[in-house]
Formats: sequence, structure tokens, C-alpha cells
Amino acid sequence: MQVPVHLSDHYYEPGRSFCGLYIVSKIELPDFSPTAELIKIFNRRGILLLNITSHQKDYVTHDFVIADLTGKEAQKEEILGEIRRIFGQRLVSIECIDTGVPGFIYNVKGFPLIFNFSENYSPVAALSVHTWKTLFQGLIKRFGAGGMTLLWFMGNDAGEGKGLDLVKLKGALSNVERMKIAFARLQSFGWGIFELVECDDKENRIVIRVRDNFEEMAAKEIKGYQNSFLRGFLVGLISILFNSPCRGIETKCVNKGDPYCEFVIRLSHIKGSGCRSP
Ligand SMILES: [Zn+2]
Repeated sequence: MQVPVHLSDHYYEPGRSFCGLYIVSKIELPDFSPTAELIKIFNRRGILLLNITSHQKDYVTHDFVIADLTGKEAQKEEILGEIRRIFGQRLVSIECIDTGVPGFIYNVKGFPLIFNFSENYSPVAALSVHTWKTLFQGLIKRFGAGGMTLLWFMGNDAGEGKGLDLVKLKGALSNVERMKIAFARLQSFGWGIFELVECDDKENRIVIRVRDNFEEMAAKEIKGYQNSFLRGFLVGLISILFNSPCRGIETKCVNKGDPYCEFVIRLSHIKGSGCRSP
């Protein structure tokens, strides 16, 4: 079973009293974990937290919690008092969040959005699948099949860039392991669920299966659309990892009724015979 990962939670319900608290405090393990204490404080009052996010650095925790205090507004001051009392000297600061819009709450300090790879933080700028859809539609409307070529090149450049990152990873990793790390990253970025089905570089054949891929989700209503961006990306990634030009075709596609999209990438070990086109 797949479990959704939340980017950020926003709540808007006119008439409700949402409470957003931002608490900075020191961790003292094993005796005191700020996040666990916060959950206990709300649990004891029978208040379910709508959201809790935690960021830790140098033994300081930044917790942000959202609770629905509709009908329990009077408890807010009590909760603040309880946190101050229980946290004591370990409390660095506590703040109530006001978004300026009644009934609306989100983590106002939540920025930047980061992808954490062993404490290397990459900022991420996310687009909803719906926004991707409008981008794809616009490209196809203006440039027709040329729009898909454009997407292929964009994907290809991005895939090559990702390949160069992976080549720099320390340790003795095989190409299969590097690809697995790349696919894990793409899954975390919301691009889909990737599976390396076959990797036979002697036969020059690499088969990748993708379920729930974002490009297909975004483009399913665009007639005749093919996974150009993703195909370009996989070709770019694999050409860098295997240090060989390659070509990719999509052999199965959810748009054609298959249960997943499947890409076959073929390496060309003959130098100079490579391609950099869709
Ligand atoms: Zn497809």
C-alpha cells in the first residue's frame, strides 16, 4: 500500500477556529522530546492535531502544530500555559500564528521546501499535477508535435543533470544501485513509482516500468500525447550513468490501456553513433 506524503497542509473553513502554534525548544534525550510532549498535551485534552511538522537541527526542535479549537477557544490560553510550564527552561520561543484570514491556517514560516539527502538540502519548487497539465496543454496547443519535442529536450537536460549528480555519489555503487537511488528521488518528488525491470547492458537493454507517473496523469486528456518529458529524462539519465548515447521508446502506456507505462532504453556502445534527439 502506498501512503501519501504531505507537502504542506492548508486548512480553510469559514467559521472554524484553527490554532497554529510555532514552538522552538531544546531536545534533552532521553528525558525530553519536545514533539512527543506536544502531542501528549493535546492528546490529554482530546484534541486531535490536524498537522504537526518538526524540523530538528543542533538539538533544537522547531515544531509547528495545527489544531481545531472550534468550541474550545477558551482552552488556547490554558494550552499555552501548559506548554510553558512543562517545557520550562527548554522552551526557546512560542508563537501563535495568525494568517490574516479568519478560518485559514498554514505553516506561515514553512519555507524553503527542501529535499534532504543525508543532510544535503536541495530547495524544491513544486507544481501541482494540474499546473503541469496546463503547461503541457499550452505547449501542445501552440507548437503541436513540436511541443512534445521541446518537452523531450527539457526532460533530457534534466535527466543528464540528475545523472551527473548521481555519478558524484561516494562509495562503490553499481549503475543499478545508482538508478535505484535516482528512482527513489523521483518518487519522493512525486513523479511516479519507478521500477527497474531489466538492466542488461551487454544486451544494451534497460527496461523501466512507471506507475502513476505525473506526466501521464497531467496529460491523459490531451489526445495523442506521449510521455515525452519522462522519456527524454530517462534517456538523459541513463546516457550519463552508462556513459553511452542511447535511445528510448515507450512500449506500454496507461493511455493505451496498459496498467503502467514501460520504457525500453537501448544503449549504443559505438561511439559517435549516439543521438541527442527524441
Ligand atoms: Zn505512458
